[in-house]
Amino acid sequence: MADRPRVVVVGAGIVGTMHAVWAQRCGWDVVHLERDDEPRSATVRNFGLVWVSGRATGEELDLAVRARDLWEAFASDAPGVGFRPDGSLTVVQRPDELAVLAEVAARPDAATRQVELLDADETRRINPAVRGDLLGALWCRADAVVEPGRALGALRDSMLGASNGGGPTYRYLGGRTVTAIDTGRVTDHTGAHHTGDLVVVCPGAEHHAGPLADLLGNAPVRRVMLQMMQTAPLAERLTTSVADGDSLRYYPAFDVPARAAMEPPAEVVERFALQLLVSQRAGGELTIGDTHHYDEPFDFACDETPYRELAARLERILGAPLPPVVRRWTGVYSQVADGAICWRDQPADGVWVITGPGGRGMTLSPAIAEQTWSAHLGVDTPDPVGVGAT
Ligand SMILES: Cc1cc2nc3c(=O)[nH]c(=O)nc-3n(C[C@H](O)[C@H](O)[C@H](O)COP(=O)(O)OP(=O)(O)OC[C@H]3O[C@@H](n4cnc5c(N)ncnc54)[C@H](O)[C@@H]3O)c2cc1C
Repeated sequence: MADRPRVVVVGAGIVGTMHAVWAQRCGWDVVHLERDDEPRSATVRNFGLVWVSGRATGEELDLAVRARDLWEAFASDAPGVGFRPDGSLTVVQRPDELAVLAEVAARPDAATRQVELLDADETRRINPAVRGDLLGALWCRADAVVEPGRALGALRDSMLGASNGGGPTYRYLGGRTVTAIDTGRVTDHTGAHHTGDLVVVCPGAEHHAGPLADLLGNAPVRRVMLQMMQTAPLAERLTTSVADGDSLRYYPAFDVPARAAMEPPAEVVERFALQLLVSQRAGGELTIGDTHHYDEPFDFACDETPYRELAARLERILGAPLPPVVRRWTGVYSQVADGAICWRDQPADGVWVITGPGGRGMTLSPAIAEQTWSAHLGVDTPDPVGVGAT
């Protein structure tokens, strides 16, 4: 057997999984530890949006474009990821919102984002399900979607396949709560030790207690809770993901002069930091959100007010009643508060901790993990983009 270096990755959300993917591709054996049998945190609760359109010009946009290409490349080896290059429509219903879109579409980086301003008829041509009330939309062809409920398993299966095919080994150990982390050694709740040349810890929003939280020290990270819901399948295909005009208030890409002139947010928008985002699952169901709650402890119950508001907004855009809502849930992500892309630190020799990508972690994780391996660990990262399925 080849004498390969070994990494122990802790946390099997998308950030940990992408670090494992890159490790194996770089020729490292991987031991992957996860508290739950199957991960059930932020990654499986999200929209699955690979969202380039809203990213800030500069490093964040460059990383998002790279990440989108990496998602596509990894999905060619792991089709269960469900990557679909569907693009998105940010649909607006008021002239002040349209003015923001016009400025965004005229920016020098519009080509990088692949954005284009559409009038109402053009919008309906791109997405015929959008039959309701609208003035126009920003069409972003770079945006894409993956299946959050299946992506982690598909990536793990692909690593296992490579491992069984004679590549660097991949071993997933679910149902193991990590209780101690030292240089070269991780201990789980069964008392088992897992040794490696490197330890990579991706704890998600585990900020408050335990050995993973201890690694974060005084990192400038906060937790954010969101409310989400899902409908029964919609009879027709949404050919793009959809956002509404209130999303312009949050994403840095929309920070153009016209944004300052937007009408003040409605009371419900301000109270729940609400915007409409919609992605369609492979089976036709609509994943709909979201709200943002910053004050801890988070309420244990879901508030019905934003759900009613979001459903009414989507019905207005589609010009049709929604299928029944069949699932509601909350999710919590970790967000770095110092303007960085994520929190990436080496709290001990050979121990790295990476978290805090906020509401863009599903999008950016392939590129964040590539950066860890190439820029921070100095490892040669073979570029999978454009190579095709192996
Ligand atoms: C509702 C919602 C919607 C979102 N929508 C999008 C979107 O559409 N697009 C986008 O780009 N981003 C989105 N995000 C953000 C994105 O989901 C997160 O940034 C990303 O999933 C974070 O991944 P992670 O691996 O860091 O964390 P997690 O997915 O939380 O994974 C961390 C893992 O670590 C494990 N763990 C913790 N402690 C231990 C321990 N002691 N031992 C072993 N394992 C441990 C946990 O069990 C967990 O599985 C959304 C987030 C939420 C909550």
